[in-house]
Amino acid sequence: MIFPSMNKFKFSTVDKNLQNEPEFLEMVQIYFDEAAKVIDIPRYYIDVIKHAKAVIRFNFPLIRDDGSIEVITAFRSQHSLHYLPTKGGTRYADHIDISETEALSALMTLKLSVHNIPYGGAKGGVKIDPKKYSQNELLRVTRRYTLELAKKNFIGAGIDVPGPDLGTGEWTMNCMKDTYTTLYGEKDVNAVGCVTGKSVAQGGIDGRQESTGLGVYYGIREAVNNPYLAEKHGFTVGIQDKTFIVQGFGNVGYWASKFMTGSGAKLVGIVEWNSAIYNPEGLDPDEVLAYKNKHKTLHGFHQGTTYSDKDAFLDVMHEPCDILIPAAVERSIHLGNADKLQCKILGEAANGPTTVNGNNILEERNILVIPDLVLNAGGVTVSYFEWLKNLEHKQLGLLIRR
Ligand code: GLU
Repeated sequence: MIFPSMNKFKFSTVDKNLQNEPEFLEMVQIYFDEAAKVIDIPRYYIDVIKHAKAVIRFNFPLIRDDGSIEVITAFRSQHSLHYLPTKGGTRYADHIDISETEALSALMTLKLSVHNIPYGGAKGGVKIDPKKYSQNELLRVTRRYTLELAKKNFIGAGIDVPGPDLGTGEWTMNCMKDTYTTLYGEKDVNAVGCVTGKSVAQGGIDGRQESTGLGVYYGIREAVNNPYLAEKHGFTVGIQDKTFIVQGFGNVGYWASKFMTGSGAKLVGIVEWNSAIYNPEGLDPDEVLAYKNKHKTLHGFHQGTTYSDKDAFLDVMHEPCDILIPAAVERSIHLGNADKLQCKILGEAANGPTTVNGNNILEERNILVIPDLVLNAGGVTVSYFEWLKNLEHKQLGLLIRR
């Protein structure tokens, strides 16, 4: 049998910085095993907890606006069914795969336990770059994704409750809720609680948008106000005048910067996926956001030095600062850059931003790492309040007065 030329196939390229690092799922399991060593429960229980209980991948066709048809791949992983429903975000990104989704669902279980929120962890996503699709196309994708989850019994207020994540937001959650309630609204009195992160008019809750960033700020504020940690890691107590750099200026990065600067810290650098700015004099998050929304890049911003060349803009993470906040994707602090960072504190706003080797280097260098499981739970915490409000069928004010 003659096989077609191998040149026809596209092989995935590995980020050279991550070649000597475990894959993301393996990395999460290594962290899990390390933590499990200090818990005195039998290994077989640990193994039961460790593995995802159900992971699905499915494909569906999308009719594009020009009439062509594309096959879209989507995922959902339910890591722990110990508490129900399961809960976790929905990613729209072209880099995602089934193993990343599983790893993120495991992190959700752990994060929810750390914060005593009674859900099992889950995560899902659609493998598309939302920037390359029209709103109508995204509407069709979201409706079909929800429909497929519903058919497989992977969504519902008592089953599995998706929230927003990378590449999704209020609009996506509203579409999911609308699709689910169209299908089950008459049968399921709690249909509106099938997703969280909805707009207020659609059953959402005030403050959900900024909640993850606010949680990041609270966590960092508590750490910098702790005299023991300050002495151990060599920083002064208090948030006032602390300099920080943020990597990823999406919802989480922006809101964390807004709250940090609002309490007297100084934003000196921002690294985005295509550009970066460094300004030791300080940056205003609102001005940068307005510029980014208009120009789709940070390059050319009127203050500080801006970069658009990949190697140069990633170097902004290595500039001196008190606090570095990775708020983008997993595995961005690794063997290749952990020894170059000049921060005293690393605040993990993203999920799993530090690899095992990266973490070891930071530990050797006495850099304080505030782990994602502690720092980025603000979003899912407020999602929990939204879900409670939906199940109560009351406005939140009424619930509180009672
Ligand atoms: N995506 C967020 C997280 O990783 C929140 C998910 C949710 O609200 O369900 O924690």
